[in-house]
Amino acid sequence: MSSDCIFCMIGVGSIKSEILYNNDTCFVIRDIDPKAPIHLLVIPYKHFGDLTNLTSDFYETLCDIFEAMKNMALQMQIKDTGYRIVINQGSNAGQQVEHLHVHMLAGKPLSTMG
Ligand code: AMP
Ligand code: ZN
Repeated sequence: MSSDCIFCMIGVGSIKSEILYNNDTCFVIRDIDPKAPIHLLVIPYKHFGDLTNLTSDFYETLCDIFEAMKNMALQMQIKDTGYRIVINQGSNAGQQVEHLHVHMLAGKPLSTMG
């Protein structure tokens, strides 16, 4: 837990947010500033920071993130229409919150990358 981290605070409930799904290690909320009709954030309860600092203690969370994404794809009925999964890492990627998290974007055709 990082005391000044908004996602840590949502995880412990000190900032209220509707939790759409959770499992042992992560939870899902809607992005407050959506970039697509469906814009979800899959967030570990534990404060993992920079990707290059991840170690084997992240493995359970990694599995749970994929479990969460699978469940949300079904729950949001975007399994067949598709979705994009994004991790922003660092300033050039526009990362705003330095608590590792995964974006799920869906609900309209998304521009192709590159
Ligand atoms: P990133 O740029 O990858 O760090 O993404 C951080 C995301 O968190 C942004 O898309 C923000 O809109 C979103 N965000 C920030 N604060 C909140 C909040 N309180 N509830 C939901 N989403 C938030
Ligand atoms: Zn945090």
